[in-house]
Amino acid sequence: MDNSIDPGTPGNTRSGQNSGFGDSAGKQTGQSRRFEPRKNRQPLQAPRPQRPQGPKPVKVPVTAFDSALEKILGSERLARHNNANIQNQSPNPDAGAQNNRNLAQKNPRNRQRNRRPNRGPSRRPIHNFAAQAVQSEAQRTFANGETCPSPAPSYTKAAGGKPVSYGKNLRVIPLGGLGEVGRNMTLLEYDGAILILDMGFRMPGEDMPGIDYIIPNIDYLKNKAKNIVGVVFTHGHYDHIGAVPYIIDKIWHPGLRIIASPLTKAIIMKRQEDFPGLPKMDIEEADDGTTADLGPFKVEFFRLNHNIPGNFGIFVQTPVGNIIDTSDFKFDSNPVNEKPTDFKRLNDIGRRRILLLLSDSTDAEIPGHSLSEQEIFENLEKIFQESKGRIIAATFGSLLNRIQQLIHLSEKYGRKVAIDGYSLKNNVEVCRQLKYIRANKNTFIQMSEVDGQPDDRVTVICTGAQGEADAVLMKIATREHRFLRFKKGDSVIFSSSVIPGNERTVQNLKDDILRQGVKVYHYKMMDIHAGGHARQEELMEMMRIMRPKFFMPIHGQYSMLVACADLARSVGIPDNNIVVIENGQVVTVDQRQITVEKERVASSFIMVDGLGVGDVGEIVLRDRQALAHDGMFVVVTVIDRLTGKVKGSPDIISRGFVYLRESKDLLKETRNKTVEIINKATGSNGAVNWTCVKEDIRNKISDFLFTKTERRPMVLPVVIEI
Ligand SMILES: [Zn+2]
Ligand SMILES: [Zn+2]
Repeated sequence: MDNSIDPGTPGNTRSGQNSGFGDSAGKQTGQSRRFEPRKNRQPLQAPRPQRPQGPKPVKVPVTAFDSALEKILGSERLARHNNANIQNQSPNPDAGAQNNRNLAQKNPRNRQRNRRPNRGPSRRPIHNFAAQAVQSEAQRTFANGETCPSPAPSYTKAAGGKPVSYGKNLRVIPLGGLGEVGRNMTLLEYDGAILILDMGFRMPGEDMPGIDYIIPNIDYLKNKAKNIVGVVFTHGHYDHIGAVPYIIDKIWHPGLRIIASPLTKAIIMKRQEDFPGLPKMDIEEADDGTTADLGPFKVEFFRLNHNIPGNFGIFVQTPVGNIIDTSDFKFDSNPVNEKPTDFKRLNDIGRRRILLLLSDSTDAEIPGHSLSEQEIFENLEKIFQESKGRIIAATFGSLLNRIQQLIHLSEKYGRKVAIDGYSLKNNVEVCRQLKYIRANKNTFIQMSEVDGQPDDRVTVICTGAQGEADAVLMKIATREHRFLRFKKGDSVIFSSSVIPGNERTVQNLKDDILRQGVKVYHYKMMDIHAGGHARQEELMEMMRIMRPKFFMPIHGQYSMLVACADLARSVGIPDNNIVVIENGQVVTVDQRQITVEKERVASSFIMVDGLGVGDVGEIVLRDRQALAHDGMFVVVTVIDRLTGKVKGSPDIISRGFVYLRESKDLLKETRNKTVEIINKATGSNGAVNWTCVKEDIRNKISDFLFTKTERRPMVLPVVIEI
């Protein structure tokens, strides 16, 4: 369950080509064209510094939240908290102006952008504030310096001249990832400027035949491309980056800054190779402590553990207060190939007075603490100790920590490693280049060489832990794999939990493999899968560290969001300060309150099927479901144009409904019925409305078949006049 939001290996590797985007007819498509043509695009408007109004001195009342905080933190820390509060509301109007001027001087980027409009985002230096050891009180409150109205860029006109500013409120708009697993994408909007956090996809459900992925609906961004000041990515899992190739060309404009960790960037870029027509992206690399000014948002990345390296929590300083997106995270004191959780740094961030915490909720229903990667390593090692034959480990392409562990163990136990599966190979290649995966030079062999190795000297790491039809494990199990067949003595490891909805397929696959005399290990038998997600104890610890005034759970099914909100209540965040919302709802935040607006933005599923993005909608999907359930039934009738009578007997073509040869009586009756309907319609010698006749055939034959079979195939009447 816990890994369910990391759909690492797309089961369908059919990758869309860009050429399909603008041509398909869905409402989601062709936006890049409806946005301004690239050559006409103006560079981002430089902010015209305005003199701030100057904040009024405010007496800070002790609120219910403060008293709750006091319980948690003790009064001494609270005093500091309020102190910082008062300092920020400096009575000197120039203090704010000065602050803003300093910020503007530090970052002349917007002006630069005006001077060099068409050269695209150049590689600009990114300040590393963490290196400056932010310790003094002044610096500690630095992140709050924006409590005064800042000279934020004025993005008040959309491309069409329509005002889009919502004033000096901060709006938080999740387009995906809430009330579902996957498809994570959240917008922060201030005074018209929009910052995008992540752009993921999700896998289709069992009721969506033929669909490859589902991506967020970005109708809200239509005509606002120029207002998008940046896109920042938390990590390289597809539920956070997977929609990039489908969305980026619709929001791209010169000067759009895109920032990610080196590994996330490498994974995105590798995937872009499958989509040759896309605009060339320049993704800036971020490290722990990197900050970037994106319009009114000042973003800082901070390292958090997950089950993939290069995972960042994101701190966003906005004119109304500080916001944190925790990304997917867990606290791990023994991670693989990366540093343990840096609590000192997290505490430093927590001291900056966090207005709103957006928290991962995926494992909010699971008590306790997530497993350390070290514990998983030990459990996996037991399998390596026991196995006398080949080990075939199925995992996600993106579960890089698990892949590394399997490589380590193979080396330790003298096994060569063969890797198979498109996404898995790609990711391992990217990671080896960046040294996120370490392996001896001669550890890897080709799949074709597996057979030549002694059984106890080989490990195969492959895709297919979710029972995906196209993935490697399924191919081995069904004897369709080019090089590999199971044999007695093999051990198969399903090293990830099952995504909800895939249980049945995985169960069948397991049974098939067991029938071939193979030993199967899966996560329910032993802890060989750590979700990369914080469980209840860690989630509460994060809340205690960040001490947010407002709280909003993200990432997860509705029940997970609610469970996460309950945890927030239990650490003392008042009920009124917590919002549980779903995709497309809009939350506004200021320093005093958080409000769920009545407004809703489009957040429906946009389905990707092969080359088509958004052209498969509800209706197509319903047809596919009907076809899948009861098949189809075509009645072809030939009419004599002169007499208006049916010529001969109607032809019937059917698939997936009944076996025609064994249903002669039913077919005969259907033919008679069809002739009857047509003759009745043409009998009166008036003009015949064939559309109505066909509709009549459709309804009556459908009802007739239902009374005979209790099935409702899709009935398609065809009438040919000759
Ligand atoms: Zn995720
Ligand atoms: Zn993740």
